[in-house]
Amino acid sequence: MMSKLYADLVLLNGKIVTVDEKDSVEEAVAVKFGRILAVGKNDEIRNMVGEGTEVIDLGWRTVIPGLIDSHCHIVSSGARRAMSVDLSEEAGVRSIADIQMRLAERAKTTPKGEWVTGYKEDDSKLSEKRHPTKWDLDEASTENPILISTVGGHFSVANSLAFERAGVTKDTPDPVGGRFDRNPETGEMTGGLHETAIGVIRPEGQEEPTREQAREGAREILRECASVGLTCVYDMVRKPEIRAVLDLKNRGELPIRVRMDVTIELFPELERLGIYRGLGDDWVRLCGLKFFFDGAISARTAAVSEPYLNRPDFYGVMATTKEIATKTLTEAYEAGYRISAHANGDRAIAMYLDIMEELQAKYPRKDPRNRDIHCTVVNPELIDKIRKLGILPTIFGPYPYYHGDKLIPAFGERRLEWMFAARSFLDARVRVTAHSDHSAAPFPPLMGIHALVNRTTKSGRPIGQSQRVSVIEALRLYTMNAAYQSFDEDRLGSIEAGKLADMVVLGEDILTIQSEKIINIPIEMTIIDGKVVHKR
Ligand SMILES: [Zn+2]
Repeated sequence: MMSKLYADLVLLNGKIVTVDEKDSVEEAVAVKFGRILAVGKNDEIRNMVGEGTEVIDLGWRTVIPGLIDSHCHIVSSGARRAMSVDLSEEAGVRSIADIQMRLAERAKTTPKGEWVTGYKEDDSKLSEKRHPTKWDLDEASTENPILISTVGGHFSVANSLAFERAGVTKDTPDPVGGRFDRNPETGEMTGGLHETAIGVIRPEGQEEPTREQAREGAREILRECASVGLTCVYDMVRKPEIRAVLDLKNRGELPIRVRMDVTIELFPELERLGIYRGLGDDWVRLCGLKFFFDGAISARTAAVSEPYLNRPDFYGVMATTKEIATKTLTEAYEAGYRISAHANGDRAIAMYLDIMEELQAKYPRKDPRNRDIHCTVVNPELIDKIRKLGILPTIFGPYPYYHGDKLIPAFGERRLEWMFAARSFLDARVRVTAHSDHSAAPFPPLMGIHALVNRTTKSGRPIGQSQRVSVIEALRLYTMNAAYQSFDEDRLGSIEAGKLADMVVLGEDILTIQSEKIINIPIEMTIIDGKVVHKR
């Protein structure tokens, strides 16, 4: 006699937004052994309730699949929090005085002579609308060298002691690939460090986190990810991040799933061990190799074909040459690796696509799924080529909202219609996804969905409205399409029988709420593998 199969967990009386092929909406879900057993009407699912079944009455709240951020630097941000002072608006910083106060506080508990560092400073969010100078930072400490980095990561400011210790005076020339900010009349350094100038001030580089800092930082930030509805993140990793994630996993304490893109500098090490994509399990898996083509959008340094409006004759910066990029990517691609390239501006994207066209022809692969991380500034020809080559773009989700106000003066309204081009990619049937690139922007995925749907800046200005997508389309970017980019489409990304039971219960109905309020929808519950990992 067959015994009846009862569910471990049943969600009843809900609005289950499945994000399946047909965008079905159902009432109830049953979970068994961490997987979805069935989705359907209340009556069908109620049949699966047995003695040991946990039943959650949703009270007609909305459930969506677990959300996936398809590119970020979450784990290293977690470690950095443990090591460095958060100077972001989210941390309550509104002015240069706030920056000074927080750095002075850290200096008090830091041994004299040791570095005090800050990060995520953003001049556009300060009441002064400018970066601090070295004299501003001297107010925080003259006994500790101070170095703060800005949100895009390509510009830093140091205090006087840091300059002194590095022996940098007004007679020091600018390094190759970098620049010191100077008083235009006297030539005196004012504190600002562009690109490689940071290395002159701190040649030993950023300190590495300890194993404990990396692990505990990762734990804390990944828990926060769960609390905002993320059940999986694609993270860019090096050794400290890989080890932190594995340390947590091996203790059974990893809060959410992680897909890892390894920096291409580690290609020789991986290759020596024969390690490539696929290594891992449903919790942690290796994806591709990350290679940099150009600058950043938030810093307005992406390599573009039209000059920046606020900087005449400035076309952004390439981080590589075609020769170097071709050589590096050829070695990796020939060896079977998947490429996850950072290519932001149209010049950088064009170079990446040219190289991949050549490589994919030379080393054909059945299902290559190479990615373009950011893929921000596009045009119809580039989108067509992306589709033909099967390159998978992931675009900034929250940027039109979070950084939008400073992008308008740099790009102008016309060009913003071709940036973060969710609509155009979907219309071209390209499986586009979206990401926070945290710490470059906040990681709550509803901010990304909000921005994709509304395309308005923080101050409420419309920004590239032709690229708006519907709520269900935006959800797809953060679920099914994101699962596809890591070969997870058979186990993640939708609420369908057989898939891993990753779901998010929302406090409001995302499909019917006024779209301007999406960003404020409370996350009631996050479920991973059928277990409630966050509850409001
Ligand atoms: Zn990134």
